[in-house]
Amino acid sequence: MKRFFCRCGQEIFFNNLFCESCGRDLAYDPLIQSMWSGELSEQGFLPHYQDGSNTNVVLKPCDNRHYPINCNWLVTDEAACQCISCQTTRTIPDMNVPKNPQRWRILERAKRHLFSTLLLLNLPIQNYRQVVNGLSFDFLEDKRTNPNVALEHVLTGHSHGQITLNAAEADEGFLHTMKEEMGEPYRTVLGHFRHEIGHYYWDKLINNQQRLEAFRELFGDERQDYDEALKRYYENGAPEFRSHQYISMYASSHPFEDWAETWAHYMHIVDTLETAVSYGLSVYKPKVNDFNSWYSEWARVAQVMNALSRSMGHDDAYPFVLTDIVKGKLKFIDKVVDSFSEQGAEVLN
Ligand SMILES: [Zn+2]
Ligand SMILES: [Zn+2]
Ligand SMILES: [Zn+2]
Repeated sequence: MKRFFCRCGQEIFFNNLFCESCGRDLAYDPLIQSMWSGELSEQGFLPHYQDGSNTNVVLKPCDNRHYPINCNWLVTDEAACQCISCQTTRTIPDMNVPKNPQRWRILERAKRHLFSTLLLLNLPIQNYRQVVNGLSFDFLEDKRTNPNVALEHVLTGHSHGQITLNAAEADEGFLHTMKEEMGEPYRTVLGHFRHEIGHYYWDKLINNQQRLEAFRELFGDERQDYDEALKRYYENGAPEFRSHQYISMYASSHPFEDWAETWAHYMHIVDTLETAVSYGLSVYKPKVNDFNSWYSEWARVAQVMNALSRSMGHDDAYPFVLTDIVKGKLKFIDKVVDSFSEQGAEVLN
């Protein structure tokens, strides 16, 4: 994540609606992947330029700027009332349930964070209102948190562009329980979004593409029975887990999950390295086809992060040691993303 500053010089953060120092209104502009400070009125959002001048262009704030979402993004699609992230939300949990407004806010925050990295990687986003099998999100509840709903168990997952997330994942307590029950100590809301979007981009970038064979060589044959594989994983754990082959235990359950787990990890690195650069911890400049130096810079930054974390008495912030096999998978994803962002949306059609 980049660092942002208000026109007054105060550091501002990705989700801020106004500057704590000078009170200017703030908005994130997906077109420039940066934040404006300015003035919000009935007419819209008037950005203030750094030189002090105002532009006459009034930008459109997202319809979800108000409670409970407090989305600070601008709308880039003239026909829409919501930003590109909010537009992808198709189902929300019942807002009359006291905890749900907060859950929804947490989920949308994490989704915007996800989107900021998709924008950085220049990965096109087409939502379900624009194309068949476009991206959509359903935030659902099950009986564990709301006895009035019909669903017993909402499982997080992806199918043809549609991503389902259990709204309860936004609760600290639920997340903690799931971490222990599922043996997933690194489970986070943002991690879910990054994992599920990995499935979405597999459909777009790998399925029916020339890269499918290369994918199979690295990740395995995805045609093996998916439901069977997951059933086996949840019943027996991962008896065949070879930690040198996979980024996580869950990745060993099926090639699709290996891809999604590795994809999520790739996004973690991209975002965290960008943060390190923006705070002056690294001088790495992103380039295409630069996997080796990108990765070794990441390893250096991760070492610093771990040392800082240990100094505070915490566990390692990045407790992973990646083998050459896993790095090979990350490199493949890096190559796919590079070629995709060069060709842009054409690949989707
Ligand atoms: Zn300010
Ligand atoms: Zn929005
Ligand atoms: Zn998955």
